[in-house]
Amino acid sequence: MDIKTISVTQECTLHDALQALDRTAQGILLLVDNSGVFRRTITDGDLRRLMLSGASMQDSLEKLPAADSVTAHAGIDHAGAIKLMSDRRVGHLPLLDDQGRVSDILLLRDLHKPVLLSTPHMGDEEQDYVAEAFNSNWIAPLGPNVDAFEREIAETVGIDHAAAVSSGTAAIHLALRLLGVGPGDRVFCSSLTFVASANPIIYQGAEPVFIDSEPESWNMSPRALERALEEARKARQLPKAVIVVSLYGQSADMDPILDLCGHYGVEVVEDAAESLGARYKGKASGILGRMGVYSFNGNKIITTSGGGMLVSFDEDLITRAKYLATQAREPVPYYEHREVGYNYRMSNILAGVGRGQLKVLGDRVAARRKVFQRYSEGLGDLPLYRWMPEPEWSFSTHWLSACTLSPDHENASPEKLIDFLKGRGIEARNIWKPMHLQPVFNGAAYYPHAEGQSVSDQLFERGVCFPSGSNLEDSQIDWIISELREFAESV
Ligand SMILES: *Cc1c(COP(=O)(O)O)cnc(C)c1O
Repeated sequence: MDIKTISVTQECTLHDALQALDRTAQGILLLVDNSGVFRRTITDGDLRRLMLSGASMQDSLEKLPAADSVTAHAGIDHAGAIKLMSDRRVGHLPLLDDQGRVSDILLLRDLHKPVLLSTPHMGDEEQDYVAEAFNSNWIAPLGPNVDAFEREIAETVGIDHAAAVSSGTAAIHLALRLLGVGPGDRVFCSSLTFVASANPIIYQGAEPVFIDSEPESWNMSPRALERALEEARKARQLPKAVIVVSLYGQSADMDPILDLCGHYGVEVVEDAAESLGARYKGKASGILGRMGVYSFNGNKIITTSGGGMLVSFDEDLITRAKYLATQAREPVPYYEHREVGYNYRMSNILAGVGRGQLKVLGDRVAARRKVFQRYSEGLGDLPLYRWMPEPEWSFSTHWLSACTLSPDHENASPEKLIDFLKGRGIEARNIWKPMHLQPVFNGAAYYPHAEGQSVSDQLFERGVCFPSGSNLEDSQIDWIISELREFAESV
């Protein structure tokens, strides 16, 4: 920014100062003396207060009271400048040379790095495990890291058996295959989710039926599920399985869902891809159904850059999952195959990354919960932002910090907000677009929470996710909060 164009002296009139402010559009002017020495900053508000105190447009700026403007010496470093501006809550920082003249001006907005929604966050030990794999030349898929990672995940969540695979999607696909889902079968699935929950239903040639969310947890509505199951029973079309998704780090209300599925004799697969580390009534999310699925994709709470895990209390299921995931190779010396399998196993290298990541899972959960808390407390006074609820039975990881925009503010839309933040280098996203609205699943049956009330539609229309990474700094969140305040004031 050209310092000269925003510099004015005391002789300047209020009229000319307002014009300069308007023309330069930086939201700030610098008052300097005739030798260029800095006196104070001038904002819109300062000029407005001067007018309210009775000054006319032709009066000079001499009447401006002295002010203790925040400045720094030109030698200040990047982190120091961010801290000073955050602490003193200013967006501009004039830098002064030894003579007290302005040599530059820093904008808080420019200093902040772009902030992404959810980025990988490595711990200290991943490289050791990977190095071990290199040193022992155990680069091929499978190996000691894979076995250990499976054991460690099972211990962490409190289940007996686990199979490490190449993705969460692969784990869901295997689960459906293990339950015998095939052409002509129906599978129920949460509608408000990422497409990977539902695609494997199609891989198996089965028919998806989508179930709405409830307002309390944003996850599968037991009411909608009950209607769907009862209708299916009457039509003699009960599903082979129900895929229950736990969204944004929060478990679904599993007890009523498990009761219903038990009553109708339908298997439950928990898609806990987003909820590793979460709890439902004290139990780990992902261990409550017949099988559970975790994902270690790059944006998830812990990552192997790409990977997944299928877990179960049933040893036979997991043994068969491992067999199907290695091309269904028969245990004989030569290559024999009686069934069609997949190449779905996790590599020994990536399992090493996973072992290191698992060590810091607790820290990552605590950090994501703190991010959510900082947003919801920092913006708690603004009715525009309605934060994702956490029912008393839930311990959410808040993998993503999500809210809906209050319908009382018709002018505010997720698109406007996402655009507003994008212009400031902050990535925000819509809530998942429900599966029953996806062109690819056109024609699939759908059961809303109540007749005439589709909760997932409402969440999609008004919902936004904010940057939520466990590696965000407090100053970055505070910056996002101040931008969200500005947005709330502008709508
Ligand atoms: C990420 C995700 C998956 C898929 O996991 P991948 O490892 O990316 O295949 C499945 N379901 C949900 C809800 C997810 O968020």
